[in-house]
Formats: sequence, structure tokens, C-alpha cells
Amino acid sequence: MRLLLILAGLAAAVPALALDPTLAERITTESERLAPKLIECRRWFHRHPELSNREHQTAAEIARRLRELGLEPRTGIAGTGVVVLVEGARPGPLVAWRSDIDALPIEEAVDVPWRSEAPGVMHACGHDVHLTIGLGTAELLAGMRDRFSGSVLFLFQPAEEGAPVGEEGGARLMLAEGVFDEERPRAVFGLHVMPTLEVGAVAWREGGIMAAADRFSITVRGRMTHGSTPHDGVDAIWVASQLVGALQGIAAREVDSRRPVVVSVGTLNAGRSPRKSVLENDLAHSSVAFRLACIAMLRAQSSSSWLTGLAAVPTPKKVLKKPVKNRARSTFMAWADLSNAAWSVPAGLSRVFSL
Ligand SMILES: [Zn+2]
Repeated sequence: MRLLLILAGLAAAVPALALDPTLAERITTESERLAPKLIECRRWFHRHPELSNREHQTAAEIARRLRELGLEPRTGIAGTGVVVLVEGARPGPLVAWRSDIDALPIEEAVDVPWRSEAPGVMHACGHDVHLTIGLGTAELLAGMRDRFSGSVLFLFQPAEEGAPVGEEGGARLMLAEGVFDEERPRAVFGLHVMPTLEVGAVAWREGGIMAAADRFSITVRGRMTHGSTPHDGVDAIWVASQLVGALQGIAAREVDSRRPVVVSVGTLNAGRSPRKSVLENDLAHSSVAFRLACIAMLRAQSSSSWLTGLAAVPTPKKVLKKPVKNRARSTFMAWADLSNAAWSVPAGLSRVFSL
């Protein structure tokens, strides 16, 4: 457990908390006292990971631990979100501290006593640490109400990794459900663990630091033929493998190289049928506007003339016109879900290489 992060959290979260030497000392002592409890806490959550919008046990445990501190959490925000207010002894500004709580669909390979007990699910992104830091910071602040003015609203946010397809979730839904309706915080703070940093180090920057991500799924349908006569059919596996390479042209040749963008193919299922391949990916980038541009480019890329049969796909212009508040992911999915399109490869696939 990174106690320093809690210290940093406290300093950032409470503007009116003047860090005089005695107070800093008290925070250090209290953090050290809490350390064994927080290590146990982190390991409990690590053993019980839950996927986005399914964090029922996680939310119940967060609420239980907050009630144990004498706090009054509100549950069921955006499905499985939990929020709790810690008030200082004197009136003052409101700030918020946000921790994400969901895990990833990854099998834990490390054999440790606190290994995930949920098959195929793991806290691989550190949200078990984040929510523990949230709980620890709330406990420290609750124990020193007399030392600060104003309040801190702790947000335990579900579905940071993205709600399952067809569901809403995460910060957007918390806002839609009015989490800040009563009082808008002056600032919202959050953090993410970073294994590449030295233990005890804290790094920060102004503005955006984490990329947004979109997912897409492309189905390539071929036409069966005998392996000895490929010219009589359409080899979906070959087309899909060319597509994987061509998609990299977005990052390498279409986007300003000073802008961070990553296009990743996470899964390529060639399946049991030689007719069909499915690619599922993450498109990560750094801003909403940029996101739409990437989407438009990806569409342009994948609908180049070497892949035909995409007439039903909306134009990039149409994609760009959609209001930002529409989930970019669903916009993207809407046109990238090409499962009904029969993709065939015209002669001259060499165009791929000139994209
Ligand atoms: Zn994360």
C-alpha cells in the first residue's frame, strides 16, 4: 500500500487543510497505523473482483466498511456506485475524490494467497488499490474533522472499464443520476497506480493524462472453397490478417505523429469455419474530438475500395455530426458492426499497402 498516495490524496482533496508540521506528522502516524488494515482491505477486494456494472459484492463491502467508520454511504448510484460525504468541523468548499471499483476479464496467473477467487476475472488495473486508497483517505479525514473546513465527497465509481455493450454506466451515468446536483464540487481528484513508478513516488500533470478508449468489432465473411483452389473462394482469414496490418496505418500514416493514438487488435477469432473472422479491438486516444476524428478515419480505412460491400455504412460526415454526448462507442459500433456485410476481395489487394 502506498501510504504516500494517501498523503497526496489528503493534501489534494482538502484545500483548506493547511499542512502544518504537526498535522503532517499526524497524517503520517495515522497512515502507518492504518497500513495493516488497508493491506488486508486491498487483498480482500483483490480476491473478490467483479466486472463492470456487476460490482454488487464490491459495492456492498465498500458501504459496509464506510458504515463501520460511522459514515452514511449512499448506494445504488449508477447501478453499483457508492458515494459518501465526509464533512469538516467548519463550513467550506466541497471537493470530490473519485475511485473506480471494477475489474477486468483476465485470468490471474500469479499464485499468491490473495489471488482472485473469481475465475477469469482479476483486478489487473489496480482498482482494488484505488478504492482502498479512497477508503483509507475517507477514514483518515473522518478521524480529523476538527482539522479542516469544507467537505469531501468520496465517489466509488463502477464501470470505469466501460459498461457492457447495450448498458450505460460509469461516471457519465453517475452525473446523469444527479450525483453533483445538490452541490457541485469545486474539483474532482482521482489517481491511477502506475507500476513503472518507484514505490512511494507520485507523478502528476495538468490536463488529460489517461486516454479514452473505444471498442470495435469487425466481421469478415469469406466464401468456402477447397484449400487447393483458393482462387475459387474468399479466404476470410487472409483478409482479416491483412486488415490487422492495414488498421495500423491509422496511427502510423493518418494521425499527426505528435498526437498519441493507439489502435490495437485484441482478439482475432478465425473460428472453426473457414468463412468468417472476427476482429475485436480497442481504439485508444486522448480526447473526444480526436476520438471522432479517429473513428472517421478508421471507417475510411476499412471501407477502402479493396473491401467492398459496405454501402450500408454511414459516411464519416454523419459520424462526426453526432453530438458528443452520444456515446462514441455506440456510434462506432453502429457502423463498425459489419456482420451483415459480405466482404469480398476484388483483384488487386495490393491497394492495402498503399493505404
Ligand atoms: Zn484502471
